[in-house]
Amino acid sequence: MNAQKNNQIKKRKFLFIGMAAIALLLLSAGAICSFQQAYAEEKAPVFQQVKQTRYLKETSWLLQKPESRAEKAAKVKKSSKIQVSGTSESGWIRVIHEKKTCYIKSAKLDVYNGYLVAIDAGHQRKGNPSKEPIGPGAKAKKPKVSSGATGNYTGIPEYKLTLKMAKKLETELKARGYKVKMIRTKHDVNLSNSQRAKIANKAKADAFIRIHANSSESSGVSGALTISPTKKTPYCKSIYKESSRLSKVMLSRFCKATGAKNRGVMYTDTMSGINWSKVPVTIVEMGFLSNKTEDRKMNKSKTYQKKMTCGMADGIDAYFHRI
Ligand SMILES: [Zn+2]
Repeated sequence: MNAQKNNQIKKRKFLFIGMAAIALLLLSAGAICSFQQAYAEEKAPVFQQVKQTRYLKETSWLLQKPESRAEKAAKVKKSSKIQVSGTSESGWIRVIHEKKTCYIKSAKLDVYNGYLVAIDAGHQRKGNPSKEPIGPGAKAKKPKVSSGATGNYTGIPEYKLTLKMAKKLETELKARGYKVKMIRTKHDVNLSNSQRAKIANKAKADAFIRIHANSSESSGVSGALTISPTKKTPYCKSIYKESSRLSKVMLSRFCKATGAKNRGVMYTDTMSGINWSKVPVTIVEMGFLSNKTEDRKMNKSKTYQKKMTCGMADGIDAYFHRI
């Protein structure tokens, strides 16, 4: 009898320990699940709106939801054209496939979209007053490069603003699949305007974007403009048409993104950096450093700088994709 009772007690103890262990396991599994859920929610990718075409590096699956490999949407062949509609910092790309929204990791897409853009941050720390011909075969001469304008209210020189914006545009364009040739990446350079054009020519850039900011005697003047060669240019006839189209779309997208007043495309054959160019070129005068609001916005507002960057990148997208 005693031995039997002991056995029964042992069995109950064993059962109790077993059940407690299972309960503990279930509880901890639940905790892990809810932790994972919270983690996933916290890490859910946030997509930034973009519009671009990319190519698939390898045959891959598009997913119905980011990070959910089980829900596949479609298998797409290597080198297929992919319409990107959004990018996230965590590397997820939102694409449109057969009118449906799908997701894929950016590593699966070829980064290069086929276009090279040269970016010239206008001016440099010290101007170079010695003169150069304003175009191939020109008798007229102009200083090689000036140090540019200065913010009347912020005191920030134009050459600093243009390089800041050039670097932001470089990052944005690379994210959109472009290759970028930077004419300068620091302030202490000695590059004349004709040399800058020759660097873009040598790189065989598909477009040459020259970033500047304007200045006026009157503080009330504001707004953006772009500069193109004229139809009668004696220096760069072969690029007139495309430069004019680039100047137009660039200005309209820039003003749309920033809300800046559209001052229209300025046509002139007096710009050495345009006249020496053999690739489609435009100068973007982003705003007036002599205007209080624009000086402050361009130099001090990160939000406005982002708008200017996206506006210029949208202009380049619109130029190449005719959208
Ligand atoms: Zn300038």
